[in-house]
Amino acid sequence: MTDTSSALRIVWIYPDLLSTYGDQGNALVLKRRAELRGIRTEMVHVLSSDPVPTQGDVYLLGGGEDRPQILAAQRLRADGGLKRAAEAGAAVFAVCAGYQIIGESFGDDADNPLPGVGILDIRSGRGETRAVGEIVADIAPELGGGRITGFENHQGRTHLGPSARPLSTTVAGIGNDGQTEGAYQGQVLGTYLHGPALPRNPALADMLISWRVGQIAPLEPSWGERLHEERLAAALNS
Ligand code: GLN
Repeated sequence: MTDTSSALRIVWIYPDLLSTYGDQGNALVLKRRAELRGIRTEMVHVLSSDPVPTQGDVYLLGGGEDRPQILAAQRLRADGGLKRAAEAGAAVFAVCAGYQIIGESFGDDADNPLPGVGILDIRSGRGETRAVGEIVADIAPELGGGRITGFENHQGRTHLGPSARPLSTTVAGIGNDGQTEGAYQGQVLGTYLHGPALPRNPALADMLISWRVGQIAPLEPSWGERLHEERLAAALNS
């Protein structure tokens, strides 16, 4: 990364292992919504063979199949960069396999617990059924409230430890356990929402940007807000 003084540095972790259901759209929407406010951005794609830079502002992880998920967790733990960055205050937005990976532990394909990166106080194991379909949830009031939607496809079920708080309360779908969806701890946030999550929920993208740069001006409602409304209606009527 070049200029580290003023740009919003977006770090997209392991596109070669963790990028199912268009999760890369999260990075693109973050960049776009920052730039529409005149905030300069830098985007770094970190392959699983590369070291994770520690000077990023927002780190993004996507979903993945069981085996790539295990490999990604091993490499991130060995590398240590993501953990150092999160401990230094960077924001993290992790989806599904990425969400499980940043926790304390997650179940492999036979539900043996494997260690995660350990920056979010959650533990994930395998559920009896696969959670597949549209999901709707209400964001925790302390994060500003509002409704989020996404698509979930996971076997994992996630339990929150005392240091993590639920991102939202599940309205339709499963999320963590049928009661809550996602978790956050400081500026480390994880969710089961694909879709991708940030194009479908522009308010969530704006929250991440404001965590790094402070208060930001609202944007005129556009395609993102229309998609949000359309997906909400579809999910609640399905
Ligand atoms: N392999 C994980 C599970 O099934 C995550 C799946 C995903 O990222 N969509 O729970």
